[in-house]
Formats: sequence, C-alpha cells, structure tokens
Amino acid sequence: SELVRDEFSKGALRNRTVEDILTPVVECFMLPSDALLDFNTMSSIMESGYTRIPVYENERSNIVDILYAKDLAFVDPQDCTPLNYITRFYSHPVHFVFSDTKLDAVLEEFKKGKSHMAIVQKVNNEGEGDPFYEVMGLVTLEDVIEEIIKSEILDE
Ligand code: ADP
Repeated sequence: SELVRDEFSKGALRNRTVEDILTPVVECFMLPSDALLDFNTMSSIMESGYTRIPVYENERSNIVDILYAKDLAFVDPQDCTPLNYITRFYSHPVHFVFSDTKLDAVLEEFKKGKSHMAIVQKVNNEGEGDPFYEVMGLVTLEDVIEEIIKSEILDE
C-alpha cells in the first residue's frame, strides 16, 4: 500500500547516512582556488558537465568555495580571469555535513533550499596529531533522490 511504501522509503532514509551515498573525494571534479579561467580551465569545466564545482585552497581537503557553472556566463577565456575573483563576487555558501548524518536530515537541509550540494566531512582522530576535519566527498539532492527511488523499486 501507499502507506507501507511511504514508511519503507522513510526507513531507508532514516537508516542510511550520507557516507553510504557520497561521491568520493577522489572522483570529485574540483578546482584549485589559484586557477586562472583561461581556455583550458574553462574547457575542462564545460567538459565535466557539472553544475557545481568545489574550489579548494592548497589541498583538496580544504574546500573554500563553490563555483557554479553559470557564474561563467560573462567570463571571457581571453581575459584569464583569476577564479577567486569570480568566487569572491558570487560568494555562494559552502555547506558541510558530517559523514554520519542520516539521509532524512540531509534531505530536510536540502529542502530548506539554499544549496543542493553539501561537502561531506568526518573528524579524523586516528594517528598521532590533533584531530582534524577530513573531506570524504560530496553529496547532492540527486544522490538522495536516487536512494529514495531505489528503495521504492526494491519494495515492488
Ligand atoms: P549536476 O547538476 O552537476 O549534474 P547532480 O546534483 O545532478 O549534479 O549530481 C549528479 C551526480 O554527480 C551525483 O552523484 C553527485 O554526487 C555528482 N556530482 C555533482 N557535482 C560533482 C562534482 N563537481 N564532481 C564529481 N561529482 C559530482
């Protein structure tokens, strides 16, 4: 029934975490904050096909901005505009979630609307040094929806 199916997919969202569905950081298309928006960089962005691109400073685990592909509408590759000039201008917020966040909670965050992408991090306290935040990957509304659809199909 409708009700059973509803409860089932809610259960799938309640029991699973963003860690189960994230796109791992090694597979993320990201840009360094000191990149220049020259022809090569702009081509690679277009070829990636992604709408939102995390921007990192120095290392890939230090995400400082999100570039939207549409931010490039008025950028001329011949100007070799510094990427951080564009990210500073648009200044989209970067949303972070912990890897153990349940899918229903992250769905509520996405529904609030500000952004449909979150950077997934965990506290790394292995090793000798102080604990630090480690970026595990990213998750988007699309990933959560895919999970809902999968659980609905399994229920058939
Ligand atoms: P887009 O709008 O860019 O197509 P979606 O939100 O529809 O992105 O997500 C589609 C899939 O691509 C999801 O699995 C998501 O985790 C992944 N994804 C989104 N942006 C990136 C990115 N910059 N690098 C790698 N994977 C990404």
